[in-house]
Amino acid sequence: MEHPLQAWRDTLRELGVVGLVRELAPEPVAPPPSRRVTPEAPPPPPAAPAAYAPPAGPVACPPAAAVQAAATLGDLQCAIEGCLACPLGPGRMKFVFGEGDPAARLLFVGEGPGRDEDLQGRPFVGKAGELLDKMIGALGFSRETTYIANIVKCRPPDNRTPTPEEARTCLGYLQRQIELIRPDVIVTLGATPLRELAGITEGITKLRGQWQRIQVGGREIPLMPTFHPAYVLRQYTQEVRRAVWQDLQAAKEWLDRPAGS
Ligand code: SF4
Repeated sequence: MEHPLQAWRDTLRELGVVGLVRELAPEPVAPPPSRRVTPEAPPPPPAAPAAYAPPAGPVACPPAAAVQAAATLGDLQCAIEGCLACPLGPGRMKFVFGEGDPAARLLFVGEGPGRDEDLQGRPFVGKAGELLDKMIGALGFSRETTYIANIVKCRPPDNRTPTPEEARTCLGYLQRQIELIRPDVIVTLGATPLRELAGITEGITKLRGQWQRIQVGGREIPLMPTFHPAYVLRQYTQEVRRAVWQDLQAAKEWLDRPAGS
């Protein structure tokens, strides 16, 4: 079966983007089966995940004043990483704050951590993250020159969509992050960040590619909605890949426009 990232690379080639995406390593070829089968001992059962230990004392919910007082992303992370303000907190393995350039001009916002992100404490590190990295690279950026965050910082069980209550409880943290980063453009990935940041509940299929504007910390920031990379992997059609690429290019063109235009 064709490797999904191979198809993404082919799409970029068709769109005239060459030399920005590394060739993919060929799929490893399995060695031929041995004729003599030696029975092996069954693998040990997987280790049980470490139990989450909530902090002692009253339920942790950082005061809004502490969030607003955070002068750097590091201060903000310290203030909120013990948060148990919504039902997602007790179930997390790791808090996923976000990562990238603290002064990034381009900010990506997804929905919430999945299994891999919860284990590593980093946003977009699974298959969807691999695709997002390719797309960011094709634009001429990297994880280190952009910033990647999510609407909620703790994993929803079974990767479900965060409830509106969970999302809104967490949203103040992301808004403070945005105030500190001061991005020139936000790209939302999927319907949930568009709903929570811009208050738009219309379908992402209808609204992707259409510029929106949001107010954060007294600044107006242009916002480009596009599909979530996990959706792109599920609906791996030329049409979907082309749409995402057009949306990302629109964001890049906005960043590249001459100052004052
Ligand atoms: S998802 Fe956000 S609000 Fe909920 S516990 Fe985690 S950090 Fe707190």
